[in-house]
Amino acid sequence: MLILDGVKVAQQWCLEQKRAGKSIGLVPTMGYLHQGHLSLVQEARQQCDVVVVSIFVNPIQFGVGEDFETYPRDLSRDQALLEEEAVDALFAPLISDMYPPGYNSFVEVGGEITAKLCGASRPGHFKGVATVVSKLFNICLPDKAFFGQKDAQQVMVIEKMVRELNFPLQIVRVPIVREEDGLAKSSRNVYLDEEQRRQALVLNQALREAEMHVQQGERNVARLKEIMRKVIASSPQAVIDYIDIYDAADLGDMEQVDRKALMALAVKFGNTRLIDNRLVEV
Ligand code: AMP
Repeated sequence: MLILDGVKVAQQWCLEQKRAGKSIGLVPTMGYLHQGHLSLVQEARQQCDVVVVSIFVNPIQFGVGEDFETYPRDLSRDQALLEEEAVDALFAPLISDMYPPGYNSFVEVGGEITAKLCGASRPGHFKGVATVVSKLFNICLPDKAFFGQKDAQQVMVIEKMVRELNFPLQIVRVPIVREEDGLAKSSRNVYLDEEQRRQALVLNQALREAEMHVQQGERNVARLKEIMRKVIASSPQAVIDYIDIYDAADLGDMEQVDRKALMALAVKFGNTRLIDNRLVEV
């Protein structure tokens, strides 16, 4: 696996791949890789000639008091995992290479899609995400970029950005990979102590419970949210950030689940904030 040493080197190498007629698949990550990330890599491996994985803990998508400094990092372990997946190139730039002194250009996706869920509880987060992803697209020149449904709002924001700013590439969504007991895999799960790890199962349980009620005919969004709230409240350490249900196409408000809906939640255990979601169709 090639290590692309810096922005210029990466862009030049990707340009050469394209000129040689190869399709490029990009998997953007913040590292500390797990099976969720690797499922994106495997999908890219199947769909593209050349697979580039980026690892970059992007400072501008973290708010004040969030976990930028403590975010888990282990580049050599990540590198070994990517070698096993036959990744062609790893791009792990320095912050100073991505954002040199005086850096001042940002990409902002507006509208309802960034105003709700994580956009509401993490102001500026999606501006940071849209900016770094735009930069990665311009550096790595992917034909396809792979994103996890784990971050459902993020992939919707990126899809809107790609559409509206005419990025010449395709976004591929990859399903959520879970632990055996149902907890969605996340780099942040390592923050949880044993008791919190046990209690964190309520996220998936709440979503499953709500989905079951939809399947049994419940359509009322307020009642479905209350069902999820009760499951989360059964965990003494859980502090709810949000529990919401929105139109899966555009995060529009809905009172009844009468079309495809995104059920999403964010819950804190101590300082650790976990998110999970489920798409339901009727
Ligand atoms: P992150 O390193 O957390 O920024 O995630 C990088 C990419 O991996 C994003 O597109 C995430 O949605 C995706 N991802 C993270 N966890 C999972 C998971 N459990 N299942 C599927 N995709 C995931």
